[in-house]
Amino acid sequence: MIKVTGLVKNFGSNEVLKGIDLSINKSEVVVIMGPSGSGKSTLLRCLNFLEEPTEGLIQVGEYEVKAGGKIDRHRKKVIRELRKKTGFVFQSFNLFPHKTAMENVMEGPIAIHGKAPEEAKAIAAGLLAKVGLAERADHYPAQLSGGQQQRVAIARSLALDPLVMLFDEPTSALDPELVREVLLVIKSLAEEGMTMVIVTHEMNFAKEVADRVVFMDEGLIVEQGTSQQVFEDPKEERTKQFLSKVE
Ligand code: ATP
Ligand code: MG
Repeated sequence: MIKVTGLVKNFGSNEVLKGIDLSINKSEVVVIMGPSGSGKSTLLRCLNFLEEPTEGLIQVGEYEVKAGGKIDRHRKKVIRELRKKTGFVFQSFNLFPHKTAMENVMEGPIAIHGKAPEEAKAIAAGLLAKVGLAERADHYPAQLSGGQQQRVAIARSLALDPLVMLFDEPTSALDPELVREVLLVIKSLAEEGMTMVIVTHEMNFAKEVADRVVFMDEGLIVEQGTSQQVFEDPKEERTKQFLSKVE
């Protein structure tokens, strides 16, 4: 479903990703953990071509883009299609402040899928109900809590019917009491079989939801396995060190 092969990303002379190989199956939930600066966000951003990889191959569903390829119309089109199929939820919620929750979720189906407003509204209403916000559809982002805003952001990504959802620390900007409601939404997506890649420091959540935990350090995948393998019986010294600090 998703395959990253030989992914390298340099920012100037800073080699941030040093050769990442990662395959993710349909309906798999992969949690990425690792110290600050290890390249977790850069990996997610390269998957979605928010960053242009320096080397390597990215495949998402039927779309396949090679780093360093000729930048022509065909390549741009494939990247555009690949992006449409990957939902991205950031730490900061990035909603349109002048649009209601409903309008935020309707935007993609109208602007990107060319749906009629009535149809987009029906899609958005269904998704807002799914994230537990049916009653808040007419609220503006400033009238919603951080947890509610993040749930709108999730609904907005889902409205494009993605093949995979990418989450970059979706709860780290939230007050502790609002974390759970967002994690529960993500968990329900996992139960429905959504393919997801989640960068998070929430270890208990990773234990609950991850089919696989990937531990990164200094631009490489150091170790991966089930949450039980990685958390309870880590093989690599760097994983042990990291876990001893977060626990
Ligand atoms: P954190 O846990 O703090 O979010 P991370 O694992 O997500 O860390 P990245 O954000 O991927 O780490 O950053 C990895 C390295 O790449 C860092 O050294 C960072 O300074 C560098 N980096 C990231 N984005 C850019 C950029 N746009 N330009 C230059 N350097 C960057
Ligand atoms: Mg990051």
